[in-house]
Amino acid sequence: MSTFQGHVCFYVPPHINDHIARVADKAAGRSSAAQRSALASRVLRERRRETHHAALATLTPPAPGKADRQIYDDLHQWNVNVDLIRGEGDSPVAGQNANLAYDYLGATREFYKEVLGRNSLDNAGLTIVGNVNFGVDYNNAFFDGAEMVFGNGDNVIFKDFTNDVDVTGHELTHGVTQYTAGLEYHDQPGALNEATSDIMGVCVEQYAGGLDAGTFNWLIGEDVMADDLFGEAIRSMAHPGTAYDNPQMGKDPQADSMAGYVDGGDPHVNSGIINRVFYLIATDLGSMPAAKLWYATLQNLWPAAQFSDAALVCGQMARILARDKTIARQGPQTVRAAFREVGIV
Ligand SMILES: [Zn+2]
Repeated sequence: MSTFQGHVCFYVPPHINDHIARVADKAAGRSSAAQRSALASRVLRERRRETHHAALATLTPPAPGKADRQIYDDLHQWNVNVDLIRGEGDSPVAGQNANLAYDYLGATREFYKEVLGRNSLDNAGLTIVGNVNFGVDYNNAFFDGAEMVFGNGDNVIFKDFTNDVDVTGHELTHGVTQYTAGLEYHDQPGALNEATSDIMGVCVEQYAGGLDAGTFNWLIGEDVMADDLFGEAIRSMAHPGTAYDNPQMGKDPQADSMAGYVDGGDPHVNSGIINRVFYLIATDLGSMPAAKLWYATLQNLWPAAQFSDAALVCGQMARILARDKTIARQGPQTVRAAFREVGIV
């Protein structure tokens, strides 16, 4: 059994929410939705830190499940699992966000099952839980180590976080990572952890939408931007560092190569380097073969793995998968070229 990382994985990184809160603070001089979201994120981070050791001590392996979905309406409370409104196979309910959450949890589950042969997050049919209407105008979504939580957004910066399937794919993949490589959430293993969530998140979006590398926009979170920010996104995998540049959110600080690597930087900043590696591989091999290659890599990495370890393991996996004809014959060379282009090898 893998152990939980004890880390709350937020979709919108702290550098964006902190900027939003600062701007709102200056403009209004009063408590705003953005400030409350930033505060709530901080509170949740702290709470998780405090309960981390207790949680590890009491964690028991889950019984094999059926990968069923459960959708809770949190009724705008700052709590999870408030009201169970839709279970597996139940008819649609009144709230559009609850139905989107149900559908996108399902799309993520199907991608893992059909493309990667994985049975839910733990590969043992873990029940997949989503919460909608968490808090008030909450500008984030997260995976807390056990379940997914979607905020409604403030409709100024962000819309309801159920609007983009890559949110669900990203967050649930943090669960897959904690059950496989168990990548630590700091420095290079943290950036590998974050990148893996973006990688699988966009692959879920492409699989669900019948898209491939050449037809996909390679943007993260473009469908949760409020109307005034249409055209912006949270991250760009093709061109990290170009996703947004506006007074509300600030300017995208993501690194796109080792030249921009930030020592001790947030995993969401340095993940751009690995995101671009995957973009380059997928553009050459196709997105679904590239997803299989990254999944094989993830299963052979370890908690403190560095970028150079990922390059080595990914190269080894490329040779195995090319031999099995899962990926194209030139896979190993494509992998080397991609890691070389961003300055890792
Ligand atoms: Zn994440």
